Amino acid sequence: MKKVSGAILQRDGKTYGIMTNSPAGIVTPRDLEHIAAVGRKFHIPIMKITSGQRIILAGIKAEDVEPVFQELGDLAMPDLGPCVKFVQGCLGTEMCKWGAQDSIKMSSKIQGLINGKTFPAKVKIGVSGCQRCCSESQLRDIGLIGTTRGWIVLFGGNGGRKPRMADPIAYSLSEDEACDLVLRLLEFYKKHAQTDERTARFMERIGIETLKSELLTMIPYISLDKV
Ligand code: SF4
Repeated sequence: MKKVSGAILQRDGKTYGIMTNSPAGIVTPRDLEHIAAVGRKFHIPIMKITSGQRIILAGIKAEDVEPVFQELGDLAMPDLGPCVKFVQGCLGTEMCKWGAQDSIKMSSKIQGLINGKTFPAKVKIGVSGCQRCCSESQLRDIGLIGTTRGWIVLFGGNGGRKPRMADPIAYSLSEDEACDLVLRLLEFYKKHAQTDERTARFMERIGIETLKSELLTMIPYISLDKV
């Protein structure tokens, strides 16, 4: 049987799915035309917008996986193990009257910073432009929420069978501070989590006090009395 990497085996056990790379779900007309052309060329039976704001091309034959990756080029995001699965962004200041911060710009920036990094388990990131929280930031491994004073950063949230609300880690951060904190939290998680341990279970195991004493005290822009 042909070895297939970067694509997701489907429930039929013989065809594959390939995800697109579209931070915050932003696509151009050219992207959509290109994806549609690949779908037509390879007779891809299902194309769906996922909850992570990407498009999955599903039902691909094993022998077509490599050619589909090649044709999609940068529009494809190979699934090569535990990594950041998606950075979900809401409409933000670009398209929503409630937007306090530019969630689309922030989503793209974070995606660029974590591209290619691997982690003990999958990581999902939600960026919301205001406290209405349309990207469900409290239920993401990393959550960001925009306010008129800057960004709130949250860590350790999870949906699924055993939901957990993320811990708020810092408030009123600048864009650069928020990105720096996201990277520090993920590095700490990578260093100390067990294999396959999602951030929610990791935080339940170590507790917020350990995170404070071993990481947050070292970060100058964090007010520990608010954590
Ligand atoms: S979170 Fe706020 S800014 Fe983002 S789409 Fe929802 S209401 Fe708009």
